[in-house]
Amino acid sequence: MTEFCPIALPEEPTPEQLKNCEDCGLYQHGTRMVWGEGNPEARVLVLLDNPGAREDLEGNPFVCGTRQTFQQAANNAGLQMDDLYITFILKRKPVRGYDKVQTRQICMQHLEQQLQEKKPSLILCLGNVAVQSFFQDPEAEVKSLRGSWHDVQGYPTAVAYHPLAIRRRPNLRSLFVQDLAFVAERYHRLNP
Ligand code: SF4
Repeated sequence: MTEFCPIALPEEPTPEQLKNCEDCGLYQHGTRMVWGEGNPEARVLVLLDNPGAREDLEGNPFVCGTRQTFQQAANNAGLQMDDLYITFILKRKPVRGYDKVQTRQICMQHLEQQLQEKKPSLILCLGNVAVQSFFQDPEAEVKSLRGSWHDVQGYPTAVAYHPLAIRRRPNLRSLFVQDLAFVAERYHRLNP
């Protein structure tokens, strides 16, 4: 059996008319916009808080820790990279303080547009920030919501910890794989 190796998933280009979006002010942080990555036609949409860098300081593509941990666990749970499309609450990575509530609200309009276009069968939200934003509930927490399906904005939605939390606390890894397997089970039932 060949060992799974995380890769830089293909990036979905930002729509032409949004390439220079300045709606929330995060463009001033100097990070570039990442609209989404993976298979744009995938039926499972994975939602993270914001993109990590896809290139190092010299501009060479690399697979950051978040992506490594996520891809490894998804593979262990029986999901192929082609089954997944990954996108973000904020399409740019903030690098200093900003108005979190307002910025998320503004950028979520782009997520709503993506959802209307892609109409995913299942959504997986990773980490409390993505969960609180998407569930529109500042009290929502992965800890109490994981392991069940929730109807959020009309989409069957599951939640799991953020891959960075798994890197910081490796004892959570088995729960993370369990949560991804929970999604894989429904996905494979819908797509036998
Ligand atoms: S984070 Fe979202 S709203 Fe803000 S500038 Fe980027 S695309 Fe526009």
